[in-house]
Amino acid sequence: MEKREQLYEGKAKKVFLTDDPELLIVSYKDDATAFNGQKRGTIVGKGVINNRMSNMLMQMLEKAGIPTHFVEELDDRNTVVKKVSIVPLEVIIRNISAGSFSKRYGVEEGIVFDEPTIEFSYKCDELDDPLLNAYHAIALKLATREEIETIKKLAFAVNEQLKAFWLKSGVTLVDFKLEFGRLSDGTIVLADEISPDTCRFWDSETGEKLDKDRFRRDLGGVEEAYAEIMKRLSETI
Ligand code: ADP
Ligand code: UDP
Repeated sequence: MEKREQLYEGKAKKVFLTDDPELLIVSYKDDATAFNGQKRGTIVGKGVINNRMSNMLMQMLEKAGIPTHFVEELDDRNTVVKKVSIVPLEVIIRNISAGSFSKRYGVEEGIVFDEPTIEFSYKCDELDDPLLNAYHAIALKLATREEIETIKKLAFAVNEQLKAFWLKSGVTLVDFKLEFGRLSDGTIVLADEISPDTCRFWDSETGEKLDKDRFRRDLGGVEEAYAEIMKRLSETI
């Protein structure tokens, strides 16, 4: 499988067409951005880690019956995925308060919820990804009611699988963002990536942050944190 024309260059990945109209190649970069692109930098080796981690986790989810876009890892940074039409929603699941949840509701980080929460943001850089609810998403024709029901069910199922997995590696899954897409027949599948760029991971013993918050908040040890979380994954899977 070879790359043809570049379809898109995003903040963290490039997306290429292939000879097969149903397949794409995603190529993971070391570029890091935060606060909707206002903060920019490089995390050396991030692309390799995110590619590997996302592929390993998606294969684990597939085994648990969750459909994903994953097809085949080509090399360190490149993966073949099923082409989808992305549902323009950032689907965020939270198990513990942190980040924008803590800010919005004026609560400390680290409150363990009795039940996970789900929220949606409209994936639109110009509008700064505004928060919206399912009714808004339907009104804006971003997804149908049925699609949203499917997405919710899959997102909570992903949370149960990932939470249990990371617990075994001594990592607390605080929150994460998912994206879903439609295959050509309309089937909803998990797309994009699952990585330290899109999840908050805290060391279960020490509470140390092992994710992109180290970059966002200038905590230092960014590369080391990505390497550590990858090591935990490799040791557990
Ligand atoms: P961003 O667009 O936020 O800068 P990336 O740099 O990660 O993000 O770019 C990857 C782009 O590819 C995203 O817009 C994402 O929605 C899209 N994408 C992810 N998986 C697929 C897929 N299977 N088919 C089509 N597009 C996808
Ligand atoms: N997230 C993401 N992309 C975004 C926004 C959030 O991957 O554009 C992830 C983020 O890494 C975290 C979760 O979604 O794991 C919740 O993020 P939050 O809403 O707290 O926003 P943030 O504090 O990152 O601005």
